[in-house]
Amino acid sequence: MSSLREKLKALEELQQIDLELNEIQAVIAAHPARRAEVEAAVVAARKAWEQEQARLDQNERERRQLETLLGMERDKVKKWEGRLGEIRTPREYAALSREIDIAKKTNDGQSEQLKELTAQAELLRKGVDAKEEELSDREAAAQAEVEAIEQRKAADEEKVRGLEARRGEAVKQVDPGLLSKYENIKRRRAGIAIAPVVGMTCKGCHRNIPPQLAITLQRADSIETCPSCHRIIYSAEAVNPPAPSPA
Ligand SMILES: [Zn+2]
Repeated sequence: MSSLREKLKALEELQQIDLELNEIQAVIAAHPARRAEVEAAVVAARKAWEQEQARLDQNERERRQLETLLGMERDKVKKWEGRLGEIRTPREYAALSREIDIAKKTNDGQSEQLKELTAQAELLRKGVDAKEEELSDREAAAQAEVEAIEQRKAADEEKVRGLEARRGEAVKQVDPGLLSKYENIKRRRAGIAIAPVVGMTCKGCHRNIPPQLAITLQRADSIETCPSCHRIIYSAEAVNPPAPSPA
């Protein structure tokens, strides 16, 4: 095996490790967003509970106001009814009687309104209880989810340490000149600096290379780059020849 084949193989090995590292680092980078999502769900559940509680509070304020008002109005009617006995003229008597009837009707209407508000309060209280239960369920679930995320993060960081150790070893096998070329291309080409050519197709950009270049690659005695994506390319067949089939 030519020394260039060894160099390309070492570089391909490094590329595989770097791809795995990229993948795991993307997963790690997504952890805070997933955690924020879990925490946002708790905030939303708490807000829903607070809104329901605010509705109940509002209902309570309205009921208290109405009760006070109704109490005052009923006292007034009682006072008027007391005054009826002191009235001397039938005209005044009729006028006050009419006032009393109107006031009583108004009070009846408000009494109905109070009953409705009381019935509503019952429903609102059930709503508050339900939202409170949802909140405590969400909080418990969030705690479990955050713990799971932390565990996954620790496991992923462990994987990164393992890959970095492997990378340290792999780098030692790579030709230094080739390594800096690799790092330069990797930065510019979405993390992929070296790609096999299968048939005539560069697996880095999925475009075909000229036939003459494909022939050059077969010899595996020079470092070539893809004319389309500028990645280092090699013939998969020439660098990793299929094992001879047992005949
Ligand atoms: Zn290409």
